[in-house]
Order: sequence, then structure tokens, then C-alpha cells
Amino acid sequence: MATLETRLADVVGGRTAKPLEKAFGMQTVADLLAHYPRRMAERGELTDIGSLRVDDEVTVVADVRSAQVRRSSSGPRLEVVVGDGRDTLQLVFFGRRSVWRERELQPGARGLFSGKVGLFNRTRQLVHPEYLLLRGDPAADAEADVYAGRLIPVYPATQAVRTWVLSGAVRHTLQMLDPVPDPLDPALRARRGLLSLDAALRAMHEPDDHAHWQAARKRLAWEEALGVQLTLAQRRALAAANPTTPRPAHPGGLLDAFDASLPFRLTDGQRAVGDLVAAELAGEHPMHRLLQGEVGSGKTVVALRAMLQTVDAGGQAALLAPTEVLAAQHARTIDALLGPLARGGQLGGADAATRVALLTGSLPAAARKAALLDAAGGAAGIVVGTHALIQEHVQFADLGLVVVDEQHRFGVEQRDALRGKAERPPHVLVMTATPIPRTVAMTVFGDLETSTLSELPAGRSPIATSVVPASEKPAWLDRAWQRIREEVKEGRQAYIVCPRIGDGPSEDEVDLGDEAARRPPLAVADVAPMLADGPLNGLRLAVLHGRLSAEEKDRTMTEFAAGSTDVLVATTVIEVGVDVPNATVMAVLDADRFGVSQLHQLRGRVGRGGHPGLCLLVTDAEADSPARERLDAVAATTDGFALARLDVEQRREGDVLGAAQSGRRRQLRLLSLLRDEDLIVAARAEAADIVASDPTLGDHPLLAAQVAALVRDDQADYLEKA
Ligand code: ADP
Ligand code: MG
Repeated sequence: MATLETRLADVVGGRTAKPLEKAFGMQTVADLLAHYPRRMAERGELTDIGSLRVDDEVTVVADVRSAQVRRSSSGPRLEVVVGDGRDTLQLVFFGRRSVWRERELQPGARGLFSGKVGLFNRTRQLVHPEYLLLRGDPAADAEADVYAGRLIPVYPATQAVRTWVLSGAVRHTLQMLDPVPDPLDPALRARRGLLSLDAALRAMHEPDDHAHWQAARKRLAWEEALGVQLTLAQRRALAAANPTTPRPAHPGGLLDAFDASLPFRLTDGQRAVGDLVAAELAGEHPMHRLLQGEVGSGKTVVALRAMLQTVDAGGQAALLAPTEVLAAQHARTIDALLGPLARGGQLGGADAATRVALLTGSLPAAARKAALLDAAGGAAGIVVGTHALIQEHVQFADLGLVVVDEQHRFGVEQRDALRGKAERPPHVLVMTATPIPRTVAMTVFGDLETSTLSELPAGRSPIATSVVPASEKPAWLDRAWQRIREEVKEGRQAYIVCPRIGDGPSEDEVDLGDEAARRPPLAVADVAPMLADGPLNGLRLAVLHGRLSAEEKDRTMTEFAAGSTDVLVATTVIEVGVDVPNATVMAVLDADRFGVSQLHQLRGRVGRGGHPGLCLLVTDAEADSPARERLDAVAATTDGFALARLDVEQRREGDVLGAAQSGRRRQLRLLSLLRDEDLIVAARAEAADIVASDPTLGDHPLLAAQVAALVRDDQADYLEKA
């Protein structure tokens, strides 16, 4: 008999085990049984041959229509035509020894045919396919051992290991397998209507019917969801068990002074989230909160108020930004918002005033030294920086709060590294303007509680977006440049965004993937002079991209913010957070080269003041092409969440998590972050209950083992990247 840990060779024999290990890395029974069928073919149902694509490795169920030996100077060959009742597929076997197959492949015979789809004389064919004939009566079937049921599992297979080899190995293994112990309590299984693990593993490979197979998939998807949610619940529990320094509000402090000086009223959302954050900061346990909000919804103010409360309570706050441009801008914005409240120890500073320090990698030595001193000595209540904050030998006198802007660029590990700079675990507030679908938030950022700012501050003008088909309608493009001139004449400013810097590769370029074969995307280096000499002649233009030095970037942004340039020609460095309320128009060139969410982020840069914003998506993509449809969708709605969903749907499921999450991706094989929302929500609740009553999982050894394996996998992944 066998268990999940038994070596495969001991169950199926070395002859079968070896190719399985070579093709799929399988070593144990568990590995084999975790190789799930891609689909279940009906014995009585034929594969849709019309849907096969050239170059795919396929296994089809089809009927033989004809078989004929042809002879030519190069020798005999057997041509077989198989069909599904609508379309046909040709099978070709070459050589004298192939001819005997004619007897076997009689018209009317039904079989599984496996091979790579090729194209010859416009006919799709499989050359030398492997095949397995199915007899009409399952009971009398010679391969009854392999396919006893009505459903035929079709496995991801290779040339060396065909799907029926896998079926045979699985069938034999399941016969030998001892009942598999279940990691889930019977009560939980009953509550959620789940098969036992033993039943699910068997039904996954040999279901009675489709409903049975779906039940197996559900149970095994639960297994995945629960594992991930347990790791997150444990993380949360561990973090909550660590006491931190409470940072309660101090009436009459910086926060009150700041609130009194605010030139606007907080939105209801800012107020509600602010109250929640204030209460959590005052608590004994560290806050871990994700703040989502549309571009321009006013997250920075919420964060700043939390930072001031922390400073009032004697602590320091660190604000982590993804780029130097953003870090510098944050420091500037905060400094401006605070005014005299940020002039601690300086002439004209308010009594309780603190200081804002900026710390980035490319700061001149003297400035860096001053900032480091201010951070370490505690003179700076607020320290703003890029990941240099984590990497360098930065010390804080008493770090109480970490704010991370635009979380999607930071991993959990980086957050932890910064957290490690505090004596007791600090409070953490993560802000993101990229709406994250709820399931992804729960799976990837599952150790954070989530708040959302869903309304924009009053008086915000809506952003109008139009698609400008440049090659179809050149007049529209002329009109676009004219619009920019008009806005500038009114005293407003404009952004022009290009996918590329030009003059060689660089870090903030859009990843073009397979599309590099097309015309190279427009580059800042080419577009800026072209506009300066042409349609935008006479306007004050500046360029901004990732390859400029920190000082150049900073100077360019400062000048643009001050209104001394009219038009900024930039890459996506301006994608996140750049805030110049006087900018009202944006033209995105080669807009089809950007993702949906990215375009939404970009256009959030305009219409931030009292004037309506206009975003022009300039493209050469043809009408009715998928690229144009995407742009039309962006133009049709400003609902960031709807667009985030669209974005996610257009990517393959595996890409939803992004490159930073390859470990997670490996772990989630059946679970779909898009479709399985209910399941994920339920698993999260169950995981929280389990961890609440059994924090170390001491009473759940099988679950503990699963969690340990997941954590190992995550760590291995992180080390690999580091
Ligand atoms: P986000 O970071 O969410 O994109 P910001 O915090 O940068 O948004 O806010 C965008 C702009 O709106 C800033 O200029 C900010 O000062 C302003 N703002 C924030 N809250 C309000 C409010 N309640 N009323 C009016 N303006 C606000
Ligand atoms: Mg912001």
C-alpha cells in the first residue's frame, strides 16, 4: 500500500516513474496526484476539432473516417482522417512499419489521438500521433484498466509522457493508496459542503460525472485558499500579539494645529478613515492598514494626519515612496501643507513644530548626512524617502509609523525590513491608488485590513477622455495639439506621455514583450524636439524621465509645479502621485502600449484643481482592434475599480499577481483570484477562526505542515529574487 509520501517508483515501478520525474519532476505519490487533469472528455463526446490551433500539443477524442495507404517514391505512408462530425483532422504515419496500422484504424473506430498540430497544404494534421483506441463497450474495453469511467481525464502531457500514461499511473496509484488523512475538521467540511481530501483526490482523477469532478476541484481549491489564508492569519495574529507603543492623539498638538490650518474640509471618507486610523494608532497593537483610493481622493492628507498624531505622541513617521520624483514631491507637499509646523528649531517655526527630512539614494553627501542625523536624533518627526530608507544605515530615534505609498511596488519583505528599524513593531499604513480587486487584496495583502476612500473631494472637476485615432484622422491630432495650446493660453499646463525615453533602454520604459516587432513606440527624446519645432512651437517645454539625475528630475518637477514650464514631456515617471493642480490636459502618445490601469493612473494627473481635466489617448491602433476597445473602455468610464477588473480579466490568470508574486502563483493552481471570490472570503473567515482558537496550529498538524511548506516556498522565492 502507499501514502502520499511514498516514492512513485515504489508504486508504479522505475520504468514508469523515471519519465514522470524527467517530464514533470514528480517524485512522490503526492506529486503525481497533484498533476490535475486539464479537462474531462466524455467518452461519448468528440473534441471540437475546429478549435485546435496550429502548434498546440493536443489530445483529441475523434472517430476514424477513413484510412488509406499511399505509396510514393519516398515509400509508403498511411493517411487517416478523423472527425468530430463537423471538422476533420488528418493523421499521417510514414514508413513501411506504419502500414499495419491501417487494420487497426478502421472507419468508425473511436480513439484518443495525441500530438502536435501541424499544417500541411492548408490541412491541419498530426504527424505520427500517439493514439489509444476506445472500444464501444467500456466493460469489454481492452484498456478498461485505464478508462473505466465515462469520463476520460485529459492531462497536461508531453511527447514522452502521453495522457494515457498518466491515467494508467494514476489509476494504479489510487488503487494502492491508503485512505488519505484529512487536514480539515469534519465540522468545517460539513459547513462548507466539502468532500474529504481522500474523496477529492480520487474524484479529481476518476470522477463519476462532471458534478463529482467539480466537487473535487472545489475541495482542492479550498485547500489552496485555506493554506494561503492560514499563513496570513498567522502573520496577523503574530503581529497583533506583539505589543507596540500606543500613539494616542494629543489635543492642542500638531494635528490640531494642522486641522485648523487646512484650507478645505475633509471628505466624509477622509474623516471616517482618519478616525479609524487614529483609534488604531492609539491601540496597544500595531495597525496594519491598506488605504485604497482613487487618484486624487486625498490619501496623502489622511496619511499626514496619522503622521502628525504619531509625532504628537513623541514618535517619528517614515513615508516610503516608490520613486525619487515621488519622494521629493511628497516632501515638498508635506512641507507646504505644514508651513510653520514644519520649521522645528527654525526662526518662525511654530512652538510644537517638527521637521521633514528627505532621504534618497542620490542625495549629495552633506544633505544626506543632515537628513540621517535628523532621523537618528529625532529632530525630524517625518522622514520621507525611497527604498534607500530601508537599504542604508538609516536609524530612527523612535519610529512609530511607517507609511508606504503605492504598495504595489513594494514587497512584504521590504515592508518588514523597514518595520525592523523600530524598537517595537511600528504601525503600518499602506496607500495605493491602483484599485486592487478584493480577492487579490485578500490574498496578496491579506495581512492588512483594508479601507477605501471612494469619493473625491468636492469641487473636483471630472476628467473627460477621448481616443484620438492619429493615423485614421490626422485632423484630430492637429486639434489635440491646438487644445493644448488653448489650455496653455488660459494659463494651464499639460503633460505629454510617451512609452519610451529613447536613446537606449532604461528602467521606466513600458515592457513591450512580444510586441517589440511593431514600430518602436514613441520616445520622449524624439517627441519633445519634434513638438518644440512643430505644433507646440513657442511653448515652454521640459522633459522628465527616469534617466535624468535626481537633481534634474527634482528641478524639472519644481519648475513645472511652479508654473515656469507649460508642457512636460515625460514617461510614466509621472504615473503615480505627481500633483500639479494647474495641469489640465494630458496627451498619451501610443496609448495602446499602456495597460488599462496604467492609463487610468496617468490621467489622474490632470483635473486635480478646480478646472476640468482632459485626457487624449492618441493611438494608431485600428478601429475594432482589441487595443482600441481597451482605449474606448478607458474613455468610457472613470471608475477605477471597473477598469482594474477589466485589466485583470485581460491578463491571464497567472499574471494577475504580477511578477513579484511568482511563488504565490505556483501555489494557486486551481484557485482563481477572479472567479473564486466567495470561496476566498469563506476560507479567510475559517482561517481566522482556526488561528484564533489554535494560534500555533498545534491541534492541526496537517494544516501546520501545509502552512510551513507554503512559507518555505515564499521564502525560497524571496531569496531567489534578492
Ligand atoms: P491621492 O494621493 O489620493 O491621489 P492627494 O492626497 O494627493 O490624493 O490629494 C489630491 C489633491 O486634493 C491635493 O492637492 C490635496 O491637497 C487635495 N485634497 C485632499 N483632500 C481634500 C479635500 N477634502 N478637499 C479638497 N481638496 C483636497
Ligand atoms: Mg498620492
